[in-house]
Amino acid sequence: MARVNDHFRLLKAGYLFPEIGRRVRAFQEANPDKSIIKLGIGDVTEPLPAAIREAMHAAIDELGDRDTFRGYGPEKGYPFLREAIAAHDFKGLNVSPEEIYISDGSKCDCGNVLDILAANGANKIAVADPVYPVYVDTNVMAGNAGPADENGRYEGLIYLEATAENDFQPAIPEAKADVVYLCYPNNPTGAVASKEYLAEWVAYAKRHGSLLLFDAAYTAFIKDADVPRSIYEIDGARDCAIEFRSFSKNAGFTGVRCAFTVVPEGLTGTASDGTEIPLAKLWDRRQSTKFNGVSYIVQRGAAAVYSEAGQRQTGELVDFYMENARLIREGLSALRMDVYGGVNAPYVWLKTPGGDSSWEFFDRLLTKANVVGTPGAGFGAAGEGYFRLSAFNSRENVIAALERIKAAL
Ligand SMILES: *Cc1c(COP(=O)(O)O)cnc(C)c1O
Repeated sequence: MARVNDHFRLLKAGYLFPEIGRRVRAFQEANPDKSIIKLGIGDVTEPLPAAIREAMHAAIDELGDRDTFRGYGPEKGYPFLREAIAAHDFKGLNVSPEEIYISDGSKCDCGNVLDILAANGANKIAVADPVYPVYVDTNVMAGNAGPADENGRYEGLIYLEATAENDFQPAIPEAKADVVYLCYPNNPTGAVASKEYLAEWVAYAKRHGSLLLFDAAYTAFIKDADVPRSIYEIDGARDCAIEFRSFSKNAGFTGVRCAFTVVPEGLTGTASDGTEIPLAKLWDRRQSTKFNGVSYIVQRGAAAVYSEAGQRQTGELVDFYMENARLIREGLSALRMDVYGGVNAPYVWLKTPGGDSSWEFFDRLLTKANVVGTPGAGFGAAGEGYFRLSAFNSRENVIAALERIKAAL
């Protein structure tokens, strides 16, 4: 019989969202007349902007004509999209189109990047706590995490605690991590990183020869001019950082699927014999071997994000969600809750009132207000006592949810 990857057995059962689903279903079955508003999962709700749809329609028609039909595209993406990204998203940051690799999602890229790094514990990995679970689980699968303790913390990982006390910017550890995952604007806390803070990480990475994996999926939600939108705004980051970006949240692509990863030329890792190897070379090889590119139609849709109309329409989409975030943040503040985030990110992170655990607050919100959020403990031990509300919803639902919370708590 085929042997399985034993590391999968160390994964804690996908606990968070299934458990939320179970509790919501049980409540709904017992209370069939109640309508429940879900501010839990971070999926977008608003339709795809017209400029994107028009570009995709035109691309479909091209494929229907023998003269403009296209088959396999370049594995790393069409130049028209990589050039548009370099020109708009990395203006003045010296990122070339050749350093941009188009993919079908940041979640996939965050996991796939482990293909080009040594596994089975050869690299010490640092993650934030609370954390986007993908970083942890993919390292468990790769054999980098070892077993979990009773709090669900993996023995082999370094956890960087993000709390209100440190402004959700965890202290830079003394210990050496070979790979550090950073996500700003942050899911789940809605926090942003200052330029100074990211500069400390770049200095740390240079000191230890570490690789920073910077997840900038929410960069479009940054409103403050002094908050860095890319790790490459920090001097020296090109020598130590890979950046992940996605069209999922700013352009409504969670179902369409398009993202990209920047691997700077000159960024290297070390082979077991000490040879320095360019990571771009390995990523290029990984992608061209295991991936055949994103569909032409989708890449035309993504490129339309950078047209004048696309910029305006996606800007409006972001503004729409950020108005939801403002309503949630201010609505809960008025109820004397301690709220964080929601200013440069579409998530509001709150301290559970009355000393509730995050699951107790989940139950209270569900049964009293019929509103669903996400318990902070589901994102890691340091998320206990916190709760996440997402701004991805209709205005109507956000306003109704706030009224219910106000009436019930
Ligand atoms: C939504 C999200 C992504 C984007 O994932 P896709 O696979 O591109 O949809 C990446 N990172 C974080 C932290 C996210 O919340």
